[in-house]
Amino acid sequence: MKKLIVILKDQLSFCLSSLKCAHQATDTLFFYEFVESSPSHHQKKIAFWLACMRHFASTLQEQGFQTIYIPITEDEKPSPLIEEMLKVYQKGHYEKIIITEPSEWSVLEEIKKLQRDIPIEILPDDRFLATKGDFQSWANGKKQLRMEYFYREMRRKHHILIDTSGKPEGGKWNFDQENRKPFKGKPFFPKRLRHQKSSLLQEVLALVEKNFSHHFGTLQPFHYAVTREEALLELEDFIQHALPFFGDNQDAMVASEPYLYHSLLSSYLNIGLLLPLEICEKAQEAYYQGKAPLNAVEGFIRQILGWREFIRGIYWLYMPNYGELNFLKATRALPSFYWTGSMKMFCMQETVNHTKEHAYSHHIQRLMITGNFALLAGLNVKEVQQWYLGVYSDAYEWVEMPNTLGMALFGDGGIVGSKPYAASGKYIHRMSNYCQKCCYDPNLLTGNRACPFNALYWDFMARHAHQLQKYQRMNYMLSTWNHFPDEKKEAIQQEAKSIFYKMEQGEL
Ligand SMILES: Cc1cc2nc3c(=O)[nH]c(=O)nc-3n(C[C@H](O)[C@H](O)[C@H](O)COP(=O)(O)OP(=O)(O)OC[C@H]3O[C@@H](n4cnc5c(N)ncnc54)[C@H](O)[C@@H]3O)c2cc1C
Ligand code: SF4
Repeated sequence: MKKLIVILKDQLSFCLSSLKCAHQATDTLFFYEFVESSPSHHQKKIAFWLACMRHFASTLQEQGFQTIYIPITEDEKPSPLIEEMLKVYQKGHYEKIIITEPSEWSVLEEIKKLQRDIPIEILPDDRFLATKGDFQSWANGKKQLRMEYFYREMRRKHHILIDTSGKPEGGKWNFDQENRKPFKGKPFFPKRLRHQKSSLLQEVLALVEKNFSHHFGTLQPFHYAVTREEALLELEDFIQHALPFFGDNQDAMVASEPYLYHSLLSSYLNIGLLLPLEICEKAQEAYYQGKAPLNAVEGFIRQILGWREFIRGIYWLYMPNYGELNFLKATRALPSFYWTGSMKMFCMQETVNHTKEHAYSHHIQRLMITGNFALLAGLNVKEVQQWYLGVYSDAYEWVEMPNTLGMALFGDGGIVGSKPYAASGKYIHRMSNYCQKCCYDPNLLTGNRACPFNALYWDFMARHAHQLQKYQRMNYMLSTWNHFPDEKKEAIQQEAKSIFYKMEQGEL
């Protein structure tokens, strides 16, 4: 039986369920390069996709697999994947198509539709640590879904950081109390790896420069790993040099330091070059070998075993309705400085510029700088999501949407988080050295030099008091706002108006 095995651009794992069914003698692997016109993807992200996919396919060819590889075309508007897949299937007279379940809801729906007309076997994506069914069963009957409890189940299930008596290592599930400190200036930041550029990667870079230079961001210098071997080196490098300091500095932000002690592994995980369990096991091993402290290792593992799996569970549990939520009715147009980075607020400028340069920014920049601004200013949830989906090399809808709409914008009304992650300039001042370089003052609430986050923060509380009062964790802030004298409230709201005006005029 001759099968067509379709491999999507974020399915580049040699252990992929569809690939495990492939017989070299009879079957053909199908790859299709496709860059959507919307959102506008970062140049580095496009290069990363294409280089990873070409390397992956070429390794499989060397192993003896037959492949049909359709590269991106220069002048034509590319036809959608489904159309192209159907054409190849019909032309090759295959008996059936085999595909691992796509990570995106709409693509899965299209494939299911096509399944009515032609034989397609859709296999589960077993690269995740919780199946959709596992998550559904865990969520079933719960009033509130909280990551922390899901994470504990996952630790037990995968026996990660569990001691010989079946209890969590160190006697606690979570060591966050010891984490999340402002950066103290030491230790030094580890130098990140640089990989040799293969001729294949060089070709891709030239292609992207020629055809996608009008896209967001800069292409060079390009330091991403593009093969599994290189991605494994990135993992080793992180475990050795950055993991020991990950916990303490997890929420810190430092000017001109885009990476701090973060792993930079999300792009490799999401495209399939690395697997979540192997990363967690490596981190666990570092703890047992005394190479990294428990607060760092537990904090890091929680991001992957907890947050990443939880986010995926939420996406599949609530799609397709999830994408239409807009709890706070946020509709203000996304300002152009999200694309240009040209503005006076240092923290925003820094985060957008890191993003332009690296197609990366770490979690706290995404959440507490650009995300926080979008939340407080009530920016259009769809436009903000398109921005996050386009500009980061690790962004795919299943992970970007619950993070942006749910965690950053509180657009889901509390499915992902128990309250909005809203913060004033004081938080940013405490967690970073950004304010020292800024023309605004985080201690001022109104006036030309006042940090815009401050008035926006209180104006947000005032605008949304009626929606937020049911969230217990908001009571203190709402009651603080209510106790402000009327003149103070008035001055804050005037200040917020002037911030919105400046934002529209490009003067912020
Ligand atoms: C508004 C917003 C949008 C985001 N969009 C994406 C996205 O498109 N793709 C993406 O992978 N992550 C996204 N995240 C989550 C997180 O910011 C990134 O995973 C992280 O910054 C990637 O950098 P790192 O690999 O250095 O992570 P580290 O800080 O080293 O964390 C380790 C790993 O944990 C996982 N992880 C941590 N937090 C999360 C989370 N909240 N959700 C899912 N996985 C997590 C990632 O795989 C990451 O590689 C977003 C967060 C926010 C607030
Ligand atoms: S003062 Fe305000 S705008 Fe400036 S860096 Fe600090 S938080 Fe950002």
